[in-house]
Amino acid sequence: MSIIHVVSISGGKDSTATAILAIEQHGVANCRFVFADTGNEHEETYKYALSYLPAALDIQVDVVHADFSDEFAVKRANLARIAAGEPESAIYGTRKFKYNWTPEAAARALELLYTTGNPYLDMCMLKGGFPSRKRQFCTEYLKTIPLTEYCMNVIDDEHAVWSWQGVRIDESHSRRTRLQGTGACVKSFEVVGGGLFNYRPILRWNVRDVFLAHELAGIEPNPLYKQGMTRVGCMPCINCSKAELHAIAKRFPEHIERIAKWEALVSEVCRPRSPVSFFHLGTQGHKGQASTILSVVEWAKTSRGGRQFSLLTDLDEPTACSSAYGLCE
Ligand code: SF4
Repeated sequence: MSIIHVVSISGGKDSTATAILAIEQHGVANCRFVFADTGNEHEETYKYALSYLPAALDIQVDVVHADFSDEFAVKRANLARIAAGEPESAIYGTRKFKYNWTPEAAARALELLYTTGNPYLDMCMLKGGFPSRKRQFCTEYLKTIPLTEYCMNVIDDEHAVWSWQGVRIDESHSRRTRLQGTGACVKSFEVVGGGLFNYRPILRWNVRDVFLAHELAGIEPNPLYKQGMTRVGCMPCINCSKAELHAIAKRFPEHIERIAKWEALVSEVCRPRSPVSFFHLGTQGHKGQASTILSVVEWAKTSRGGRQFSLLTDLDEPTACSSAYGLCE
């Protein structure tokens, strides 16, 4: 049984450094490269991951994405029953919900609840809201599950898989604390079972090592790093900092407008009165303000406290996704 080295490419610096390392150590023929498309990436990231890197590294990058068609069918069937007057308890049993459907709201949601083909938006329409730092289901649905399925397909073809994960301990305080506290993910190599192994070759690299690996291999980093982004990935990520959000709104207002439209659509297909916002209240430090993306962007223009409008850079906020798998940079 041969070993295939599967590298998850996010378009960020850590996954690129990991890909460079995999190629150096095992050669392109023994590696596979896969990009989990969330549907919420910047166009520069698509270009970088799907055009620049394949050409520069002479590799093929496969694309996977979550498919929610089955879940849409189930949700539509349930809403049709509620719209027809059945009580929620007939569908969900004794499960209690903070907000309840009415037949009218269910009928209205049914008019709009169709898959859009965009994994991020579909996920939020199904879940009736956006992920949050406390409920970060986006990483699991949009990245972990599709990438694991990809690895399983390789294993089904009679290979063992080393899943190369570009995670670094020093990328965030939360990750450092979590990894060191539990020891659960601190290992650079672990046996998952069933022919799958996790390998984290840059676990103890610092950011200089990462950029040096690019330089030595003659590979450019994602151009977004030169445009005020400290990390790339979803545009924006639910974990982005106040300063990053300010930079995104200034440079890429079209992405803010897209999310504002998503908020409006998701609020039309979720339980009546349930709050829908991309940034959940308080998660970016915007306590006390309404949290639709447009209001959070306004707040992001202010200094600490939210009254003065000025560029700010002094907030000590988390800037990294807490995924232990390095799937979201
Ligand atoms: S980059 Fe951020 S928003 Fe996107 S899947 Fe990861 S944690 Fe979620």
